[in-house]
Amino acid sequence: MLETAGLTRAGKSRMSQEKVERATVLLEEKVFLHCTNPDCLTFAKASGKEPVSCEPRNTCQRCFGSDNARAVKDVLDACRKRGFSKLVIVGGSPTVRHELERLVPSALELRLVDGTKARPLDQARADLAWGDVVLLWGATELHHKVSNQYQDTATGPLKRKLVHVPRRGIAQLLAGLLTHLQR
Ligand SMILES: [Zn+2]
Repeated sequence: MLETAGLTRAGKSRMSQEKVERATVLLEEKVFLHCTNPDCLTFAKASGKEPVSCEPRNTCQRCFGSDNARAVKDVLDACRKRGFSKLVIVGGSPTVRHELERLVPSALELRLVDGTKARPLDQARADLAWGDVVLLWGATELHHKVSNQYQDTATGPLKRKLVHVPRRGIAQLLAGLLTHLQR
């Protein structure tokens, strides 16, 4: 694929940064990474892209490794029980936010907030009003200035919406959310 696009040729092993970016975009468009789970292979085949088996497992574009997929299912069930359908997540890297968008079915509406960019107080207030739960995802890309906006705004009954998850990783984030939902 890369040779056809003129991004490399046989015998070449190095690539310029500019070409790495173009190659990444190209492969994201053309390839669907899947793990050994038969459901993921079927999904990859139906994607219209070239199915390519992945390693490690968590790079599977369908299940991102079974831990995350199972955690999403548990969270969805718990949200349904509570009548929750809107989730705000503050923090995390762009890659992780992208994964979350793909992982979480549309039954649960997500608002993903970049924790490195200043969030005006009005906007933080609107997020707290909109979401059934607002997760402050510490230990990731979350600046204190941003998380403080939410903490300062969440007064009275709004306080109950705010959840701190001071651990990295999507599975950990979802586990923290699940604990909150079951409380
Ligand atoms: Zn998979």
